[in-house]
Amino acid sequence: MSHIITLNAGSSSLKFGLFEVQGGTPVTLGTGLVDRIGGAQAHISATAADGSTIADDGPQHIPDQTAALDRVLTLLDRLYPGAKVAAVGHRVVHGGADIVAPITLTPDVVDSLEKFSPFAPLHQPHNLAGARAAMERFPNAVQIACFDTAFHRNHPWVNDTFALPREFYDKGVRRYGFHGLSYEYVTGYMAETAPLLHAGRVVIAHLGNGASMCAVVAGRSVGSTMGFSALDGLPMGTRSGQLDPGVVLYLMEQEGMDAAEIADLLYRKSGLLGLSGLSHDMRTLEAADTPQSRQAISYFTFRIRRELGALAAVLGGLDAVVFTGGIGENSRHVRERVCQNMGWIGIEIDHDANADNKPVISTMLSRVQVMVVNTDEELVIARAAAKLLGHETAQAMPA
Ligand code: ADP
Repeated sequence: MSHIITLNAGSSSLKFGLFEVQGGTPVTLGTGLVDRIGGAQAHISATAADGSTIADDGPQHIPDQTAALDRVLTLLDRLYPGAKVAAVGHRVVHGGADIVAPITLTPDVVDSLEKFSPFAPLHQPHNLAGARAAMERFPNAVQIACFDTAFHRNHPWVNDTFALPREFYDKGVRRYGFHGLSYEYVTGYMAETAPLLHAGRVVIAHLGNGASMCAVVAGRSVGSTMGFSALDGLPMGTRSGQLDPGVVLYLMEQEGMDAAEIADLLYRKSGLLGLSGLSHDMRTLEAADTPQSRQAISYFTFRIRRELGALAAVLGGLDAVVFTGGIGENSRHVRERVCQNMGWIGIEIDHDANADNKPVISTMLSRVQVMVVNTDEELVIARAAAKLLGHETAQAMPA
């Protein structure tokens, strides 16, 4: 039996998954997270497919991504002795304008993906560092990259461009869109479970620490709230979301901030954290119930409602709305606020179903079906890797 490892390397975190390939199909064995990489406060946690905790280790010293990967491999070897790794699938945030599907990685291909690092400086270098470390550890395994941008590459031109002089579009200043792996999972799930809705006009709201919304027709993305960077659109845990570009000029000219300071402000200090002054975490804000936390949640839900109207206009109508991501899947409060007084667009929410996190939370009479889908980005990567498996030699976890 061969196995697939999935890796999603961020600036200070490494998400991982282990899958067993059964009859060509990956089945989840366990998934986990190393966070606070870069110091003595790092922590490793993992859960089995049934949601039970199988590891919870820390704090410990994990200096970098390579050390984090080694800890993960040691853990997986302990939890799943004898697992033989045939493929490693990597989440890579940026695939540029032309990559529309997963690709096989070689050292040269990884080097070539560096050209997109200027477009995603906070994510791409870490993704590629994770890929390089995994290639060293598993020299015989198939290594593939799945891109967050790929799902959106068929956007019509008007949804792909900014109104800047043409030369910037040609240089790659475009609306790429992100969270593509989550959208791919949700559209695949709908194709299987709700084919008529899948064939229609759907808005998917991926609401996690990062958040975006996507307009989909027949499983194809036609518009997204995220644009050139992972900053645009909805406010997020610590990111501002859509901002008048004049604010950035003001910060430079009047506040004397340089690019690094502005990046720190917009990526790490804004969003729910900035507005609440308390936390980036929705659960904490809901529990705190302070005036500032209530305002932060109000702004979050206001922007989701505004984008829902805009994306419905892009679609020329609406057949379904899907909530996903940690907030979308779990916060009945946020879903309720987003859906209230939306009868004009055809949404009528079933309050009991919503309170119970049911898969369908709209009433029988609602013209638009409102769904809750638990996304699984790791499984999307593992499925892509499983498709590419051939006759390579599966390898035990390196000690
Ligand atoms: P990431 O984008 O890092 O993958 P997640 O998709 O895990 O993030 O989402 C994390 C967010 O989901 C946090 O704001 C967290 O508070 C929120 N969340 C998780 N469970 C709940 C819950 N039961 N109620 C409200 N918010 C929740």
